[in-house]
Amino acid sequence: MYYDRFTKLCEMKGVRPGAVSKATGVSSATLTSWKQGKYTPKPDKLQKIADYFGVSLDFLMEKSDFMQCPNCGFTYSPFSEIDIKAHADFHDRYERAASAYGYVPSESVAREARESFIKDFRNTSKSDSERIEAYEEFLKYDFLLDVIQAGYSPTIDKDKHDYREISALRIGYRTPEGLINAIRKRHGMSPIEDGYYENPEIAEWVQETFDDPDMHFLYKMKQKMTPERFKKHLEFMEDSYRLENPDDDFGC
Ligand SMILES: [Zn+2]
Repeated sequence: MYYDRFTKLCEMKGVRPGAVSKATGVSSATLTSWKQGKYTPKPDKLQKIADYFGVSLDFLMEKSDFMQCPNCGFTYSPFSEIDIKAHADFHDRYERAASAYGYVPSESVAREARESFIKDFRNTSKSDSERIEAYEEFLKYDFLLDVIQAGYSPTIDKDKHDYREISALRIGYRTPEGLINAIRKRHGMSPIEDGYYENPEIAEWVQETFDDPDMHFLYKMKQKMTPERFKKHLEFMEDSYRLENPDDDFGC
């Protein structure tokens, strides 16, 4: 059973069963018996074969006609002409974006990486250089997510993206001013000054995003308070914000 599907996968990948045997460790004898209908490989071997072709076990076992392209992530049926065409168009866009930006992961990979790096960036037990490195990785995946969400657009400007993100970094006890200024310096931006949200676009965005006028006056308050008191104030504000918005990953 399912050998026809195996044949189809070999055709699509342009490989012979012998090459599959070599790469997966499933013996040629097993594949031959399978072809002759004497024997269906055991589930662990079928899984190895499925992994080799980058398809699900359900697809290999004919429980599903849909597969996901391991590169662009498009889900389609290789038995439908319309699907094949749709995938080809999508894949083409993906390839163009991948060559424009060097690397484009799938949406789920980009999302997970982004989450994980933003956590590292916020982790106060890490060193500044580790946190800066994590922030650079966050910028990379956040940007790639924009690219993916724009249907693999090959024309999104990374510098503009980074400028917008960095401009929105808020001073907080988890994100000290020195760290923000080190990141700004790396990107050729001047240190944070009195005009904290110097980019009018960002200022407007922050205004809309936070229904919290205090945020806009943090910098000014810092100048009026002792460092100890200011830190306490930030902790209180950040903790109450986090309690109210547990899923928000802004405020890094
Ligand atoms: Zn594809």
